[in-house]
Amino acid sequence: MSSIKHTVAIVGYGGMGSYHTQLIKESDRVVVTGAFDLLENRRALAEEAGYTAYSSYEELLADPAVDIVLIATPNDVHKDIALQAFEAGKHVVCEKPVAMSSAEFIEMQAAAESAERVLMVHQNRRWDEDFRVIREMYEQATIGSLFQIESRVHGANGIPGDWRHVKEQGGGMLLDWGVHLLDQLLFMIDSKVSSVSSSLSFVLGNNVDDGFDAVLQFENGIRAIVEVGTTNFITMPRWYVKGTGGTAIIEDWSLRGRIVAPNHESEKIEPTPIRAGVGLTKTMAPPSEGSTVLEDLPAALEMPSSFYDNLAAVIEGAAEPIVKNAEVLRVLKLIEAIFEAAERNETVKNFDIYGA
Ligand code: NAD
Repeated sequence: MSSIKHTVAIVGYGGMGSYHTQLIKESDRVVVTGAFDLLENRRALAEEAGYTAYSSYEELLADPAVDIVLIATPNDVHKDIALQAFEAGKHVVCEKPVAMSSAEFIEMQAAAESAERVLMVHQNRRWDEDFRVIREMYEQATIGSLFQIESRVHGANGIPGDWRHVKEQGGGMLLDWGVHLLDQLLFMIDSKVSSVSSSLSFVLGNNVDDGFDAVLQFENGIRAIVEVGTTNFITMPRWYVKGTGGTAIIEDWSLRGRIVAPNHESEKIEPTPIRAGVGLTKTMAPPSEGSTVLEDLPAALEMPSSFYDNLAAVIEGAAEPIVKNAEVLRVLKLIEAIFEAAERNETVKNFDIYGA
């Protein structure tokens, strides 16, 4: 493995930009050397943290010591910042959602290709442990073949910050959190999406969605329900998945969860009917004693490399990117289909997220 350290300058030293300095410290292949932010107080913070604080983006780009531009600004300016970086011969890491539309991302990719520079999108939640547990269950068929996957994130704080409220800046929860949850599903499931339906929530009165739900039907039979909410004072589990051999739940990012599966050792005993409300039911009665087993969640599937170690290897031509641009483009096109399904209030079937 090469011992070269690739240098990064961060553009947009806000919440996520400054957090990247911590992430990058976990890699010995990449190092942060500088930052630029439009705001003077953010530049001062970068300087206090020991980085070169450039007074303009042009100054940053003119510094030959910078190999990689890391874009962590609001979404509407990602594309222009990236195009300038490629023109200056820099590689680019861009925060998600990488662009305002699939058309913008195609432009960014073309600029990277003609400059022969790397463009990698920070779809970091592919590394989340809860997601990697679900991937392990999917790959190993721990609870048989998964046929229903429900992926939710629920908050009660409304839309945070300033630009996330503004449509023209790429605000709204479908772009903000939807991009993560959809990226995870498309990364995991080796089948095409054949239809989507969705609805967006505007209960907080913004002109961007404060949440959404979407149902994705995959050609292999998997149905995925994706939901993001910012008005949920009681949260639903992060994951609820059903397989042909059981059901699993992951409550939250602390990985509290369980699997309940049929007990094949026990002879089949009919459940005893229960009173439910004012009625009587056998169908919805709890399974009879001993007919199910409670199991722990499996260990998370390992990733071959961290995001930043992978980036260094990709720049050196020694590895394929874990986050591939073709996959990122697919997710953006899927988001566009979800917006369209919500607007038309119809299930959208004739969309192509898999074309060139
Ligand atoms: P933020 O508002 O906290 O920070 C953005 C910073 O960019 C601000 O300091 C602002 O002054 C600066 N800025 C704006 N325009 C600029 C420009 N043209 N040039 C230089 N600086 C500029 O926002 P944030 O929460 O850090 O989000 C930034 C990006 O990171 C967004 O794309 C967001 O979606 C993404 N993000 C990703 C994750 C993740 O887990 N991958 C988490 C949070 C945010």
